[in-house]
Amino acid sequence: MQGGEHWDVSQTEDQSGTRLSFHCWPSSRLEATRCVAPIGALYTPLKKLPPTCSPPTALQYDPIRCSTATCHAVLNPYCQVDFRTKLWVCPFCLTRNHFPPHYAENISEQNLPAELIPQYATCEYELPSVPPSGPPAFVFCIDTCAHVEELAELADSIQQVLNLLPEDSLVGLITFGTNVQVHELGFEGLPKAYVIRGNKEYGPQKVRSFLCVLYVSLFVCIIYVSDITCFVHILFI
Ligand SMILES: [Zn+2]
Repeated sequence: MQGGEHWDVSQTEDQSGTRLSFHCWPSSRLEATRCVAPIGALYTPLKKLPPTCSPPTALQYDPIRCSTATCHAVLNPYCQVDFRTKLWVCPFCLTRNHFPPHYAENISEQNLPAELIPQYATCEYELPSVPPSGPPAFVFCIDTCAHVEELAELADSIQQVLNLLPEDSLVGLITFGTNVQVHELGFEGLPKAYVIRGNKEYGPQKVRSFLCVLYVSLFVCIIYVSDITCFVHILFI
């Protein structure tokens, strides 16, 4: 990581809906080992972005994906495009991919699909291939390393958010400080929480079996408490 006094996190977030734990990508493995914070990104779906920074509506089709079986990256403005041969190069694995026929017929430097427009750093898709999957689920992830007053304000904000959720929503609660606690909310009389050590790394499979979760497809609300305000981020995982 390099110093960046002029890096404006909130500007990037306003334009793309993303907040990154880094602002310089490590250029070598050695540099990567020196990163203090893990490489990560928070994305706020449905965020109102300026019209110059994202398509006006969600794209009503499936994304074009890289053909490499272990990659499947999505076509994006950082892909190199050869308009003559109708090929695009995946920036992650450098595979050259053919555009599907309906893209290849119309694409040109003047006529780009939304996902290749350079200013559109983020695109949202409404996937026609995904069937309706039941009620929405929201998991509140709360950083408990905060002053009592701030936590009280946070509790008030969460109460308001709960009133705005659809009635059939599933709601979960995770709090984290030194350890991570996954709270079971189904039984009022007997509060129960799974405690996960904060200084140990658990793989997704391990966490899944630990929590008896068969599959995960939900919204996560990550709530940061700061001295000034509370931010609510909603993520897909
Ligand atoms: Zn790829």
